[in-house]
Amino acid sequence: MPLSHPSGASGSSPTPSEPSFAERFDVLIVGAGHAGCEAAAAAARMGLRTALFTLNLDLIAQMSCNPAIGGVAKGHLVREVDALGGIMGEVADSCGIQFRLLNTSRGPAVWSPRAQCDKALYRTRMREKLESIPNLFIKQAEVVDLIRGEPLQPANPRISGVVLRDGRRIFSHAVVVTTGTFLNGLIHCGEQTYSAGRSGEAASVLLGENLKKLGLRETRLKTGTPPRLDGRTIDWSRFEEQPGDADPTPFSFRSLAALQSAGLKTTDGSGQPGDRQAAPVAVRWQPPLRQISCHIAVTTPQTLALIRANVHRSPMFTGQISGVGPRYCPSIEDKIVRFPDKTSHQFFLEPEGLNTHEVYINGMSTSLPMDVQQAMVHSIPGLENAEMLRPGYAIEYDAIDPTELDRTLRVKQFHGLYLAGQINGTSGYEEAACQGLIAGINAALFARHARQLDSSPGSNPDEASPDTFTLDRTEAYTGILIDDLISKGTDEPYRMFTSRAEFRLHLRIDNADTRLTPYGRRLGLIDDPAWAAFQAKQARAAALQSLLEATRLDADGLQTLNAALAASPRSPMGASTGTGPAETGSTQTSATETSPTEIVSLPRGELYAQLLKRPAITIELLLPALLPSLEAQRETRPEFAPWLAALTTSGYAHGGALPVWIRNELKTVETTIKFAGYLAQQQRTIQRLRDDEARAIPAWFNYRACSGLSREMVEKLDRVRPLTLGQASRIAGVTPAAVALIQCFLQIQARTA
Ligand SMILES: Cc1cc2nc3c(=O)[nH]c(=O)nc-3n(C[C@H](O)[C@H](O)[C@H](O)COP(=O)(O)OP(=O)(O)OC[C@H]3O[C@@H](n4cnc5c(N)ncnc54)[C@H](O)[C@@H]3O)c2cc1C
Repeated sequence: MPLSHPSGASGSSPTPSEPSFAERFDVLIVGAGHAGCEAAAAAARMGLRTALFTLNLDLIAQMSCNPAIGGVAKGHLVREVDALGGIMGEVADSCGIQFRLLNTSRGPAVWSPRAQCDKALYRTRMREKLESIPNLFIKQAEVVDLIRGEPLQPANPRISGVVLRDGRRIFSHAVVVTTGTFLNGLIHCGEQTYSAGRSGEAASVLLGENLKKLGLRETRLKTGTPPRLDGRTIDWSRFEEQPGDADPTPFSFRSLAALQSAGLKTTDGSGQPGDRQAAPVAVRWQPPLRQISCHIAVTTPQTLALIRANVHRSPMFTGQISGVGPRYCPSIEDKIVRFPDKTSHQFFLEPEGLNTHEVYINGMSTSLPMDVQQAMVHSIPGLENAEMLRPGYAIEYDAIDPTELDRTLRVKQFHGLYLAGQINGTSGYEEAACQGLIAGINAALFARHARQLDSSPGSNPDEASPDTFTLDRTEAYTGILIDDLISKGTDEPYRMFTSRAEFRLHLRIDNADTRLTPYGRRLGLIDDPAWAAFQAKQARAAALQSLLEATRLDADGLQTLNAALAASPRSPMGASTGTGPAETGSTQTSATETSPTEIVSLPRGELYAQLLKRPAITIELLLPALLPSLEAQRETRPEFAPWLAALTTSGYAHGGALPVWIRNELKTVETTIKFAGYLAQQQRTIQRLRDDEARAIPAWFNYRACSGLSREMVEKLDRVRPLTLGQASRIAGVTPAAVALIQCFLQIQARTA
């Protein structure tokens, strides 16, 4: 059914079989939360006519809970979204009011960016970003149902649109549902319970009920949020200030592009002599907004006593809440019950923005009754007179069992239906964003295929889309998140941790672009300037690596290095000399038992790359000695121009601090050289895992015919229907012996199939 597009209409006009006020798009996104925004941006930027429906246009990308993006492992996800061409990183950089790079005293595998963001500005900037994308139409409406198999034979398990509360039917080739905590959302605040998607917003009850008719397995989950206070009523002098980094690290690789092109000779196109002007030099990334501090606080014995005395009134403990909450992000009353020996709990006072006095109490999520919340807050010195702007509360909501999905986040039972975000059992803006991106990309690829089939009459639109985009556990935390969800499911809100990764050293924040940007480019999500900056950064790293592998330490270099060693008790940047292959997430101390000063007997003539393999030697310590070699190659290796320009301007050679963006790039090369052996060993393990992943299990495979598999295992395997042996091996309870058995029966059944 060819699509017709009357001019001016955002949606194309209905086909003859569709009611008059129907509209048609290629891709529909339900919900403009953190998942929906990424999905919509990706599908539209891939050239598909995309509509984004949400309950309230003024609350696009609302940060329901903490006013922060990133943190350990979450920062890795934001970098991966950005490297693939997603938008969360750029938006966070544009409205961050405090930036910190966490864990720099530990190995590079666990370094992770985090930013406090101005919540109101985050919504505005995200909306601006979405409204700047051609092909993307944002609409306020409540989606109440999905259209099944229409207009194709009803029996065909296909979703081809949505029904709106006002009766309109919107048709499309693919639908991505990202409704967060809204499906049958129920808020609990003490004894009070009421239906809501989050505070102040209605729940999605009709869609929640209609989704049940699809027959998908569901779970009931819960999350919670702390009270918000009026900052003018807080005695800040009673709290320890926690400022951001003086030289902040942005999330987005594109935020650094301007810095990275500094000093690069570019032509102004006039062809006149001297038209090759060096781009202006900026030394450090400057966040566009004023930077402010957070504050650290702790509970008092009175706080704990008060909560203990009232824990029986918490919906968590009265059985009022049936949803399962996150063990890793417990409410304050949960912490007190679970850790009775702890005499105090730390929490943070985080500003919600520059133009508001609202303060978020990170670490005090609660659903205790209001009177208890008030007393709890007032039991903290400095908060005795604090006014509460919003109470804390818990919310429970419906989520879909993610083992219903495949690696593209498509619902296995339906063509054209994708789910992303909290609806899949995760918790967190970042976890939602990476899923939204993957679901949006795959919905776009499916719609593109369906559109081609539509335009070639007689073709069968239900053929599975040949083109999909997936990431596996060896490539990205996003791949780990999705694989964990679809293989193991989740019985509590799933949050990302670096400990979930088998190959942490491969999946660092600094090499997310090396791992993923080429994919983003192929998908059409990385534009030319970003691609050029990416290639220049890769070229810089490669040039430095070959320089380190070819340059020997001469007398001057040795003198300079010894001076640097003597001067650095720990380099201000935190001497991040990695340990041997001990998973490098560990703290530095072990490797640097041999403190720098003890290795003054460095052998002249040693290759810099060899020196870098010494635990105590870091790239920061080597750089002063290496600088002359870099300078000497200024003309022959233009790749180094941005570094040399920034190092010169920063006065680095005369004791100025090393700009953090350069340090971060140098660290990539340091890690590659310092852990080469370990990375190679991991590469072999990765290859074995990929081989396992390559062994497909056909859809018709009969686990019941595999004698030796326990009934419980057969049930699990039948429920998940893993696509590969590798995925089967990760299903909880499926033993290596069972995997070996399946491998045998694969050959047997293949012979008789
Ligand atoms: C009270 C609370 C506390 C939280 N605490 C934490 C925490 O401590 N740590 C943490 O990591 N995460 C927490 N979160 C979760 C975090 O907010 C989510 O993980 C994240 O926002 C999920 O993003 P999402 O895109 O899946 O959904 P959301 O961001 O929830 O967006 C869903 C969107 O769907 C829209 N929508 C819903 N139903 C419909 C419909 N029928 N039709 C059209 N549009 C619809 C809504 O308007 C909204 O824009 C909390 C959330 C809440 C509500």
